[in-house]
Amino acid sequence: MVALKIVIPVILLTLLIGLITIIIERKRGKTRRGYGMFGGAVCPQCGYPYARHWWAPNLGTVKYDRCPNCGKWSRVPRASADELARAEAAFFGEEGELPAQELSEEEKLRKRLEESRYEDV
Ligand SMILES: [Zn+2]
Repeated sequence: MVALKIVIPVILLTLLIGLITIIIERKRGKTRRGYGMFGGAVCPQCGYPYARHWWAPNLGTVKYDRCPNCGKWSRVPRASADELARAEAAFFGEEGELPAQELSEEEKLRKRLEESRYEDV
């Protein structure tokens, strides 16, 4: 199982980088939602802020991603925390509850990892 020996460290490294990214983004503390390790994007069609999908193909510095709100495909660069916060305010209002972000496979995995940390203590 040579393949596993390569795949497992890569997955662990990916998760680690993802966690570090999340910690950094939390510290910035500007956005009210999490956007995952691929960063958030603001839909150029409807202005909806969303987490970029892991499966969206990269085109240089932008991703070709599908907006979960309007369903349109567009080339989206990684939006800055400022841009995302502005889009959140424009889309959901300044205050109040934000609709829950759909969890990506990545985040589900990370959540499971985090929960399992306490199981065998
Ligand atoms: Zn949209």
